Amino acid sequence: MELKCDICGIKVDKLKRLKKLNGGFYCKKCEQKKREEHREFLRRNVLGIKKRKELKKIWEKKRKEKEAAKEKQFIKKQNIQEKPIIKGAKVKIKTRQVHCYLTHDERGFIFKKMLKQGFPEEECKERVSSMVKYLKDYVKGLREQKKKEQEVSRRFNEEFARLIESYA
Ligand SMILES: [Zn+2]
Repeated sequence: MELKCDICGIKVDKLKRLKKLNGGFYCKKCEQKKREEHREFLRRNVLGIKKRKELKKIWEKKRKEKEAAKEKQFIKKQNIQEKPIIKGAKVKIKTRQVHCYLTHDERGFIFKKMLKQGFPEEECKERVSSMVKYLKDYVKGLREQKKKEQEVSRRFNEEFARLIESYA
């Protein structure tokens, strides 16, 4: 028997320098490579584990998609909600539905706006909740003055726009 590696064909002087693997004889280097390839095969095709490099690519892609979606949504919200700010507080806010409280989305929007301005997250939360409380009390006060609901709504929207403006 000729003592050589089945893959690279390197000749060795002793049999013990060849590794037997799956019925073949390989030099140490090729045997390691083969084992590594097999491990890779198992990881990829059996376990479904991808190479870190590929994973990074996938992660990066997902991250970018997520950011793009976020940005898109943010712009969408801004388009809806910033209109009254641009026009000023006195203009009737058409895009806002008639309700005298801050919606979940509006709160989120304000929160993000503050964050973007560099305020710490905790502070943003506090500011949003104090804004919510302020507007709640404001509406309560108007209702106590027996203002008509339409008037309450209008004044609320104005006050809301003013508040937002001060954060713009
Ligand atoms: Zn070899």
